Amino acid sequence: MSRHVVIIGAGIVGATVAAGLTRDGGVEVTILERGSEHDLRGSTGHAPGYVSLVSESPIMSALAVASATLYEGLESGLDGFDRVGGLELARSDASLANLERRARLAAEAGITGILLDPDEAAAAAPIFVDREHTVGGLLFPADGVARGGVVTETLKAQASRQGARFVYDATVTGIDVRGDRVEAVRSSCGDRFEADDVVIAVGIWGREVAALAGVEVPLAPVAHPYVYGLTRATPSRARLPFVKWREETAYARDHGDRYGIGTHDNDPLALDVGAFDEATQPWPADEFDDPIERALQLLPEEHRFPIDTRLNGLFSMTADNLPLVGPSKDIEGLWIAEALWITHAGGAATALVDMMRGQAPAIDGLEALDPARFAALDAEQLVMRARKKYREIWMPASPSGSAEVRS
Ligand SMILES: Cc1cc2nc3c(=O)[nH]c(=O)nc-3n(C[C@H](O)[C@H](O)[C@H](O)COP(=O)(O)OP(=O)(O)OC[C@H]3O[C@@H](n4cnc5c(N)ncnc54)[C@H](O)[C@@H]3O)c2cc1C
Repeated sequence: MSRHVVIIGAGIVGATVAAGLTRDGGVEVTILERGSEHDLRGSTGHAPGYVSLVSESPIMSALAVASATLYEGLESGLDGFDRVGGLELARSDASLANLERRARLAAEAGITGILLDPDEAAAAAPIFVDREHTVGGLLFPADGVARGGVVTETLKAQASRQGARFVYDATVTGIDVRGDRVEAVRSSCGDRFEADDVVIAVGIWGREVAALAGVEVPLAPVAHPYVYGLTRATPSRARLPFVKWREETAYARDHGDRYGIGTHDNDPLALDVGAFDEATQPWPADEFDDPIERALQLLPEEHRFPIDTRLNGLFSMTADNLPLVGPSKDIEGLWIAEALWITHAGGAATALVDMMRGQAPAIDGLEALDPARFAALDAEQLVMRARKKYREIWMPASPSGSAEVRS
């Protein structure tokens, strides 16, 4: 009998694991997803989806490069992933020095980064760059934007063709463990799925689902504001680079039919995601209106767009700002793939598949993502530390080692 793997969650991470595991056959794969077939209720369906290749952490840069390559090779083509470039902007001398440092970091990682003067930066993304207040820019031509939903649907279709079985409207309610080994997964549809391996890929719900197997996964879900402008009368394929103001922790994107802008300049509050079945929540005007207004002020005055749609989207942070990818140390056959962004999901899920197949992953340094690395520490304190990382998400590494790693 072939090995049976149950994947919990059909967001971008679960879909990539399913496509990877079924590619070479020999493994029976079932994916349990509580949403319906085309209803991405996790974070994947809501992300504006910039993919920055250069991170402060070499492993994260390597995962981003691998993810971009994977998305680019999918049959969804440019609809799923498009290398429009990423432009980082400085509005102060300190911020410019940071961009110069990041240009060196990029060179070390073998990724092209081009320092731009203010005129060149403004020419690269005229809608987003306020020439008067910009002192320089750093363009990464190989950065891109991913449509998380398109990429995920493509990977799901690929996995299905390769024999994966998707079960929708199936909320996982139990993970049965016998001795120190996973045995089966139970779901709200009443079925019990025997499993040699179980992969937890449920995004912000990772802590709750891992607890079903008695395993602590210290994640902090955070709420993040993103807004869209009005839909343009004549949409175009978006070719403007996405833009990041690192110091101001804001970013903007051309979606082709409208512009969008987001910010990390809000206080991440504790969230009880066990009570939510969507990775979005109502817009908390008291907390989000001012940070978004500050972000909009970064645009040239004539391009500060009226807000049409407000999104309060949720994603997960960890105490060291790195994802959790690998086997559980406590329970044999249990695998964790959590706190992954779209930027790193493809590469990380592919590496997890290699681990599950007993093959050496193509990327070095994955031990930094070991889900057990926090085992000796207090879970609640870890969650509080993780929440604090939200505002620091793009900061350079600190001497204490609490590094920015997401890029
Ligand atoms: C507003 C916003 C902006 C973002 N911007 C970016 C960006 O620009 N770039 C980037 O790289 N990333 C971005 N992210 C982060 C990124 O979207 C997520 O980190 C990523 O999509 C997580 O993918 P996932 O597959 O782990 O989780 P999800 O997409 O959340 O999928 C998890 C799935 O598990 C299912 N599930 C949960 N519990 C159960 C259960 N008990 N039983 C069965 N199924 C279950 C859910 O229904 C869901 O479909 C953003 C996120 C948000 C919200």
